[in-house]
Amino acid sequence: MDSQSAYLERLRPAGGKRSSKRDLIVNVFLRQDGHLSADDLVDLMRQEDHKISRATVYRTLQWMVGAGIARKVDFGEGRFRFEHSYRHPRHFHLICKSCNRSSEFISSDVEVLLEEIAEARGFQAQQSVLQIYGTCEDCQQGRRAPRAAVTTELLFARDALRIAIATERSGLDFYTRGAELVQDARARKIFRRLAAEEQEHLAALEGRFEQLLTEDPHLESYPTFLFFKGAASGLFASGTEQLAKVVDDRKALMLGIRCERGSHKFFKRYGERFEDSEGKRIFLEFAAEEREHLDLLIKEYRALVARQSKPRPRRSAARKSQAG
Ligand SMILES: [Zn+2]
Ligand SMILES: [Zn+2]
Repeated sequence: MDSQSAYLERLRPAGGKRSSKRDLIVNVFLRQDGHLSADDLVDLMRQEDHKISRATVYRTLQWMVGAGIARKVDFGEGRFRFEHSYRHPRHFHLICKSCNRSSEFISSDVEVLLEEIAEARGFQAQQSVLQIYGTCEDCQQGRRAPRAAVTTELLFARDALRIAIATERSGLDFYTRGAELVQDARARKIFRRLAAEEQEHLAALEGRFEQLLTEDPHLESYPTFLFFKGAASGLFASGTEQLAKVVDDRKALMLGIRCERGSHKFFKRYGERFEDSEGKRIFLEFAAEEREHLDLLIKEYRALVARQSKPRPRRSAARKSQAG
């Protein structure tokens, strides 16, 4: 994969010499999706090259940690495990003490909270680790389910798309309702146009989701990876509720502006926090679309205000002259 070699080139220290053994170890490591112990990696390497020494693998692992290719994780087993960071955003872990399996999740809300705490204490944070120990669902129910062979990147993309699709749907609902409610012809036109755009984006996102499902037909059945305190979809949903009570076109446009602004901010704020991944791209692309809608609505709002306020001075002047 070309983007993978570009990723490695970026991490390679300036003037650092390439070694074919190291490259082989890095390549094998990047193909793994779980959390490997150093010995797991030695075993894997020996399937490729039975003469490779333990010391070489250990040394390369240390080098990968230093270069940011590998992250060291401690699940309290008395030895470290390693996971790669290529297309694998930082995350937290749930660790089952019964079957020793771990699963991953992401929560920008938790990350923000950890940063706030460190800042309040004047603490310069280098790394935050959050691990939840306990018993997994399979162990509680006495199931010995096979390990899902799904990559974190795929789960991340799935959850990012789910959130974007939900937001797009509620946006479509908002503009469809809005187009029925507003009185001003231009405002109605703009609501219709935005409804059409949301419809188009929705179809594109759903197509992307279908595409993702072809990579793994069971994708929908894996547990949630991406957690949020509040999703942006709620913004448009409450906007639609408020829209029903609004009779004023300016207020209707203003409501659209508020929803788009909230949605843009939500996707941008979270998207920027994620490390390079498909999930990040989905969030940032979505944020950019919302920004366009926002700008369009602001322009229309101003135009509507200008239109509505134009005849007024004449009328008040006429009134004044009548009064005088
Ligand atoms: Zn378990
Ligand atoms: Zn992990």
